[in-house]
Amino acid sequence: MRLGPAEVRFTGRAEGDLGHGGAYVEIDALDPGVLARRAAVCPLPWTWLRQVHGDAVVVAKVPGDGAGTRADAAITDQAGAALAVLTADCAPVALASEDGVIGVAHAGWKGLLAGVVQETVAAMRDLGAVDVRAALGPCIHAECYEFGGSDLDAVAARLGDVVRGTTAFGRPALDLPAGIRAALADAGVTEVVDVDVCTSCSAGHWSWRARRDTARQAVVVWRSPT
Ligand SMILES: [Zn+2]
Repeated sequence: MRLGPAEVRFTGRAEGDLGHGGAYVEIDALDPGVLARRAAVCPLPWTWLRQVHGDAVVVAKVPGDGAGTRADAAITDQAGAALAVLTADCAPVALASEDGVIGVAHAGWKGLLAGVVQETVAAMRDLGAVDVRAALGPCIHAECYEFGGSDLDAVAARLGDVVRGTTAFGRPALDLPAGIRAALADAGVTEVVDVDVCTSCSAGHWSWRARRDTARQAVVVWRSPT
């Protein structure tokens, strides 16, 4: 899809496993098949991350910059740089501004608590972004995401009771898409496109919680080199 000046691709099973077998695999150990599948989605150099559910944001100064960094978000103002995060149930968020600054963030409940979405938008503004818009990709939805107790209270304390959902079985749940929207609104981003796909319900996506899938889909954001 288009998002302002950016191209955004949310992948699923059809594009194959785009992950790297865990957070701590070194970059030169990446499987050639993974590299080929990534190139088929976007042939530009990827800034991919060893995601740790934190709030660190990588600034890619040239295409491919920061690949393999332990972080959960990346931004750039460079055309020709592909920014990616890998997910199974956590939320992939694509960001872009008309100024040409783009970003990507990975957020589950820990990322929401850490404020990674707000940190990513703030870092984009530091690069000159003004009107930031967002796209939210496939992630686990409330009907499939039983979640409660003090962890849910903590997320609600940070982002409001809008994050409190209910599962299909009537149990307390985290409404992750609502949490992402609340975090984006907190950062002044109100224009949000949601593909509205639940990774647990969808036969076309990987889900850790539903099926213990170890493969990963991706969101990739880039501006084409001119
Ligand atoms: Zn579902």
